[in-house]
Formats: sequence, C-alpha cells, structure tokens
Amino acid sequence: MPTVSADTLPDALSAAAREFIAQPHRLLIGAERVDAADGRTFATLDPANGREIAEVALAGAEDAARAVAAARAALVEGPWATMPAARRERLMLALAQAIEERAREIAQIESLDNGKPVGLAQYVDVGGAVAHIRYFAGWPTKIEGGVLPVSAPNMHCYTRREPVGVCAQVIPWNFPLLMAAWKLGPALAAGCTVVLKPAEQTPLSALRVGELALEAGFPPGVINVLTGDASTGAALVEQPGIDKIAFTGSTAVGREIGAKAGRALKRVTLELGGKSPNIILPDADVEAAVKGSFQAIYFNSGQACNAGSRLFAPKERFDEVMSALAGAAKAAHLGPGLDAGTELGPLVSAAQHERVLGYIESGREEGAELLAGGEAALTGSGGYFVEPTLFATTSDELRIAREEIFGPVLVASPYDTLEEVAARANDSEYGLAAGVWTRDVSNAHRLAAMLHAGMVYINTWGVADPAAPFGGFKASGIGREHGHDGLDAYLETKTVWTAL
Ligand code: NAP
Ligand code: MG
Repeated sequence: MPTVSADTLPDALSAAAREFIAQPHRLLIGAERVDAADGRTFATLDPANGREIAEVALAGAEDAARAVAAARAALVEGPWATMPAARRERLMLALAQAIEERAREIAQIESLDNGKPVGLAQYVDVGGAVAHIRYFAGWPTKIEGGVLPVSAPNMHCYTRREPVGVCAQVIPWNFPLLMAAWKLGPALAAGCTVVLKPAEQTPLSALRVGELALEAGFPPGVINVLTGDASTGAALVEQPGIDKIAFTGSTAVGREIGAKAGRALKRVTLELGGKSPNIILPDADVEAAVKGSFQAIYFNSGQACNAGSRLFAPKERFDEVMSALAGAAKAAHLGPGLDAGTELGPLVSAAQHERVLGYIESGREEGAELLAGGEAALTGSGGYFVEPTLFATTSDELRIAREEIFGPVLVASPYDTLEEVAARANDSEYGLAAGVWTRDVSNAHRLAAMLHAGMVYINTWGVADPAAPFGGFKASGIGREHGHDGLDAYLETKTVWTAL
C-alpha cells in the first residue's frame, strides 16, 4: 500500500493521531487486519485542503462474504454466543472507556478526515459516542421476556428476546464515529454481531474503534469493519448471511436498501434525509431564536440530517430576524477543523462542495433573495469551504426550499398564521425534525402535535440523548434509534409454549 508523507499533515496533530494515521489501514475481519482480497485501496482526503491523508483498503464482495462469515461464527459459536449479559456490559463499558481515554486523538482523526472543528468532534462525536455506548451497556442485563396470561388451558407460555443476528451497518460521513456508536451500541447490547461499513470520505475513526474493541476484549468477529465505497456497501447488504440492515444516509440509497431488504425479508432500519422546518412564533425571544436557528442550520456546516434548513418567521418580525441571522452568518469564522477558532469547517468532499454550490446557484436562478453568503470560501486553500448562506423567499416551491441540500444554506420565508405555517411546514416528503420558538406553552404543544416529524424541538434545536428516540416520519426513515425503541430493532421475540 502506498504510504503518505507525514509532513503534509497539519502541525496541530498529536503524536498519537499521527501514529495511527501512519499505520496501514486494513479491513478488520475476525481477529485479523487484512488487505482487500483483490488488493484495491482508495485515498481518504483532508477536506480543508484536498490532500491525501491515508490509503485505505477497499473491500469487495469477497471481503464482505468473509466478514459476514466471521460475524456468523462469532454469533453461533465462540465466547460471544454464550457470554453472560453482565460480561457483555463490562466489555461495552471498557470500549467506552478506551474511546474516552483517547478522546483528543480520536477527535483529531475525525476532524482531519471529516473537516469539522476539532472541539465539536471532541464534544459531540467522541463525547456522544462514549455516552451512547455507556447507555447501551446498561441494557444487556435488562432484556426481559414475559410470562403471558394466555387463555388456552393448561399451557405455560413465555417470551424470550433474542438477538436478531448478523447486522450490516452502513453509516455516513457527517458524524462518522457517532454514527458508528449509534449503530454498535444497541446491536452489541442485544447480543448481535456486526459488519460496519463507514463512508468512503471518513473511514478512519471506525477502524480505530474496531481496533479498540479488540483490545478491550471483544471476541473476534463480533465487530468487523469493512472500509470501501458504495460498491462495498451494496455488496455487504446483499450478503445472504445478513439478518438485519441498519443504514443512515441519503434517502435515495435508503430506498434502494429498503427494497433489497424487502425482497430478502431482512430486518431493516433506515435513518434518512430531512428538510426540517424551524418556526419562530411572534412572541418568541428573538435573540434566543436567532441564535438557535443559526446553530440549527450551520452546525457541522449544515451537514446534519436534522438540520433546520427551512426557517419560518412571522411577517411582522421577518426583517428583524433576517438581519440578525445575516449578520451572524457574515461574522462566522471559517477554517480548517484543526485550527483554533474555527467555527465552520469545510464540507466533506469536492462532490458535496459542487452539489451545495449548485443548489445556491439554483436558488439565485429561481429568484430567491440572497441575504448572506452564496459563494465558495477560502478558495486558495484547495479545501471545500462554502460561506454560510441565507436566502429569503415567499415560495415553498423552489428546489432550495424542497430538496435536502446538506450544506450551510438556509431558506427563510415569512408567514401569517399558525395554521398556515403548520401546513407549509408539513408540505414536504420528509419528516425528520421540526422546531418551534415561543413563550406560549399552549401554541408550543399545539404545534408539536400538528407537525409531522419524528422529533420536535421547543426553544432548542438538535438535542440528542441515548435515551430519547431519534428517527423520522415519511421519507426520513423507518424505525427509531436510541432508547428502548433502538434496542428493540435488534431483538426478535420468540414465544415458547409448554403443555403442562
Ligand atoms: P450515501 O450515498 O447515502 O452514503 C451513506 C452510506 O451508504 C455510505 O457509507 C455509502 O458508502 C453507502 N452507500 C452508498 N451507496 C450504497 C448502496 N447502493 N448500497 C449500500 N451502501 C451504499 O450518501 P452520500 O452520497 O455520501 O451523500 C449524499 C447525500 O446524502 C447528502 O448530500 C445528504 O443529502 C444525504 N446524507 C444524509 C445523511 C444523514 O445523516 N441522513 C448523511 C450523509 C448524507 P460510500 O460513502 O462509500 O459511497
Ligand atoms: Mg476524509
């Protein structure tokens, strides 16, 4: 595998992060770190300058079959199959601790690979991943069946909750480590085994977690990591040995995976896109609403499935809200994720850069009013920066108002009445999140009931907790992650009848 010169890496990187980046990045199958069967590799890039960070193995169908076989073997034989729940708990806690102890190193790796500010990576991605694995570590010892009050005479009937089996988990690039933890937590708690496929833009943190899991004592084959591209993901989900597919990513790929899962009758959960409405009511604390609405869209440079990408402000306060938001957008500091003081990092890839700039162009062409941003930024850097952009429009029909952009582009629109804004907010194929800013308790909860969304945020945006279900209505997905619902998605119910 070609090696990459360490001197092209940013100075801010710690020795531990450099050491990890310099090592060969192979697939993790069973206990082994192996090259792809056909020897293929791909480059992962630094989005702040477009330079190569490392070469990574590109798994194909043969590797997918081997990883699934390793996961199957761990599921049905070997220590995982018979491991007491309390031991599973301890292994998960050990993994969480191993990640936490290396928080700075892993945050730097994530920031370098994805582009996001390193502070955000440490707090949200690493901190969130640790919290998630710890929360789910509490579940193995609490998975209970029940004794059922059946009416059939002389029968003893009970249920067992059993792991669904071997899981293919395909994750995106926007929160790579956090998405890995959101997937691994419930699967491991339930006693499943996993083949994890990170996105091609951000393969590194999943490989690091796979390594740490082996070091923490997870039996080989419980967690396998297949790096690669879309063809790797497709080959993995098509493996006949997969019992369940969990996917987070675009709605287009989600539809394809859902169709494949349907044909093969595999269990499936899908966490997909959004075009989430964020509604400021006339009585809101405007300063708090503007601050929250800024974070709702520009956090992680707009690359969040639950980004608040459609803003509705009351007609009489529209100009005030727009001028405050435009001011904040113009003042935001863009830079490489590893630079101190960076508020917004680059987009993840040249493809996303082009896609987002294309949407901005379409907004201009379709007649939306540009109030801030609208251009590529730091163009001499070779990185994929886009200015935080704010459009105002009265039309809900523009492409920028209907399609998921997945970048720092907010489309704002004035409204007159609560009923009108609820109807307009719901007029979307998506239904992931929605927000309401108000001091009026009654209107807050009226809207919470009216909005078609899996999550409603009142006077806040984007909070997540391992105990609180996360997922969407309509084309935003199928099923829920987190909490009891998230665990259930990895369990089968078996009913046992005994004639007495
Ligand atoms: P994507 O293609 O849906 O990628 C998500 C994951 O699925 C990646 O691991 C990807 O692998 C894999 N994949 C791609 N095609 C596959 C297939 N046919 N079968 C199985 N796995 C497959 O997303 P993207 O192209 O990176 O981003 C495009 C758009 O998706 C974004 O602009 C955004 O709108 C949306 N998105 C949503 C989320 C979210 O959190 N809901 C996250 C990311 C992107 P490779 O990366 O290796 O191709
Ligand atoms: Mg990268």
